[in-house]
Amino acid sequence: EAKRQGKNTYLFYNDRMIEQSFDQLMIESEIRYALDRNELLLYYQPQYELTTNQLIGIETLLRWDHPELGLVTPEQFLPIIERTGHIFPIGEWVLKSACENNKKWQDQGYPCVPISVNLSTKQIKDSDFVETIKTVLNETGMDSQYLMIELNDLSEVINETDVVKQLERLLKLGIRTTMDDFGKSYRTFDYLKKFPIETIKIDKSFTKDITSSTENEAITTAFILMAKKMNLNTVAEGIETKEQLDFLKKLQCDEGQGYYFSKPLPCAEFKDRVLSGNVPKGV
Ligand code: C2E
Ligand code: MG
Ligand code: MG
Ligand code: MG
Repeated sequence: EAKRQGKNTYLFYNDRMIEQSFDQLMIESEIRYALDRNELLLYYQPQYELTTNQLIGIETLLRWDHPELGLVTPEQFLPIIERTGHIFPIGEWVLKSACENNKKWQDQGYPCVPISVNLSTKQIKDSDFVETIKTVLNETGMDSQYLMIELNDLSEVINETDVVKQLERLLKLGIRTTMDDFGKSYRTFDYLKKFPIETIKIDKSFTKDITSSTENEAITTAFILMAKKMNLNTVAEGIETKEQLDFLKKLQCDEGQGYYFSKPLPCAEFKDRVLSGNVPKGV
């Protein structure tokens, strides 16, 4: 608005806005070098089975450690790398590093649980994707049953049968798919009907208000019931409080993830604080 109204309205921009747009410019121009400059890293967040409090999975979350901006989260650069195609080398690096680390942890005697990697729609649509996965598994030596993928927004998918075929090829290799951010888009149910999905991950917006709004409680209850009818596994993301956890347990949600158990942690801390058998707080 300020821009359109001309020079008399420059005061609409405050320092924070200027700072943000500088940051965004820097992000846009430098993300392409992040991989080669070794500035990308992975954070890991544990997933627990709610009835037993056992560690049952690990989610991989990408970070960019920018020399000036510090840690940059994926939402600040994903749209850019998806547009420029940098998502392909970066996505491959994420897959490889996740598998490498999980294999290393398994070899060191830590629990053998699947590691989940978030994928962009572009990656799953790519005809070379299954080959990439096979190469990564070969090179890292990790068994395919310990790799899972998470997909969220499939709205860009035009040729659905191609994606279904890709997911079926992955399933043949032993790689299962989670529908991330379930409930966030009205097309969520459509996706469930069309794509071979094993798990739904209930979006954190539902978890957040579950104890305070009867609407959210009703919706989440319905999601879980529906999932059970369809033999799908349920995970709730964004669990931050004991109340939310107890509520989800009561609704018989299978698994959970969130700050209440652990924030996403860099590799070394994840090993020390989570894998080293510290009993999760949920017990
Ligand atoms: P997501 O896959 O739905 O991941 C969950 C997000 O919620 C993560 O944000 C995580 O840090 C955050 N989170 C975890 N527990 C809690 C909690 O208790 N409360 C709240 N409020 N938030 C929690 P993050 O790490 O910023 O990632 C954002 C999104 O970026 C992810 O959402 C995922 O869609 C995408 N993403 C992350 N890593 C990758 C990647 O390697 N490749 C691709 N293509 N996308 C990625
Ligand atoms: Mg995810
Ligand atoms: Mg999610
Ligand atoms: Mg998300």
